[in-house]
Amino acid sequence: MNPRPIDYNSKPILIFWEATKACDLACKHCRASALLEALPDEMNLEESLSFIEQIKGFGAPYPVLILTGGDIMKKRGLEEILKRTKELGIPTSMSPSATPLLNEAAFEMMKKYGVKSLSLSLDGASSDTHDWLRGYLGTFDKTVNLARSIISEGFTLQINTTIFKRNVHELPQLLKILLETKVKTWEVFSLIKTGRGIDREDLDPQAYEDVFNYLEFASRYGISVRTVEAPFFRRIMIEREKTTYNGGPLYSKLVEETVTLLGRPADKTKGHTSQTRDGKGIIFVAHNGDVNPSGFLPIKLGSVKEKTISDIYRNNETLVSLRDSKNFKGRCGACEYSDICGGSRSRAYTYFGDILQEDPRCVYIPESMKALNSAK
Ligand code: SF4
Repeated sequence: MNPRPIDYNSKPILIFWEATKACDLACKHCRASALLEALPDEMNLEESLSFIEQIKGFGAPYPVLILTGGDIMKKRGLEEILKRTKELGIPTSMSPSATPLLNEAAFEMMKKYGVKSLSLSLDGASSDTHDWLRGYLGTFDKTVNLARSIISEGFTLQINTTIFKRNVHELPQLLKILLETKVKTWEVFSLIKTGRGIDREDLDPQAYEDVFNYLEFASRYGISVRTVEAPFFRRIMIEREKTTYNGGPLYSKLVEETVTLLGRPADKTKGHTSQTRDGKGIIFVAHNGDVNPSGFLPIKLGSVKEKTISDIYRNNETLVSLRDSKNFKGRCGACEYSDICGGSRSRAYTYFGDILQEDPRCVYIPESMKALNSAK
């Protein structure tokens, strides 16, 4: 039996709440451009608890609330916030930074309030790469050790990796580390120019095609792979069910190295194919209560201090338009994958200043455009 389709116009499956911008790290690609201390306009405890109450407006089963930052461990009133999410039955996951604040006491507090899953960022297979990006020496070792602790404490762990030129050749080695650490989910972000986004490190479209085809291959080793700001991974997953990829040199090199490290994989892929994208199935609430389609798309849709999150999600005109792939332009508008993929709306906005434009990092030429070109 097919699972009941999810109506993304009614509710998201994930609410990302950047509860604070405070963080002791200084990552070069930080979406939040995090700071050492909280900003003066950060929602106070009363406002934070009021926002959490609003989530009930979506009705049960509630979306998963992802507490992120900055470093969520620096959020003032964190324990009261977790207590309230537990009382209301809102499933909550946390995305802390790898700092000394993530310790035994923190794990105990999370368990007490029913947090079952955590995510950590690991952006390289070596301290050279990861520590360079994070801005502090020793963060790579700390993150790998924390990953082991989190799993041994009984939490489900997701590792987040942002791909860029400096780390792309480390993906096979990184996959090996994740498998050895028994990480269940690998969430791979493509770079968006926002916050401290390191623009010169962005890959070109063909390199992305190679990398995401490689990730489809990597998922055959038994790790679930998801992507952020690269919904064309779903197009690739569908294509790979039908045909093999005659990849470019980067793909071949990554596959070859992986087989040398890990042997041949199983045939079954574990790529994740839910049809969410910015503002469709996911929504982002900033530290000050402003609501954006995602953390990478800085368009203000409203504020949870003035309207409820369910009202904004269901009724904001920009968001309603963004969810309908018929409104997309360029290749994404003509594409047979527009509904299940639709391209990164954040990247369209960054490149064209238009949230409805095509995703310039996808190589795909839709069938209707191919037909037009061959008719000329
Ligand atoms: S052209 Fe747009 S909709 Fe089509 S696969 Fe590429 S990103 Fe997705």
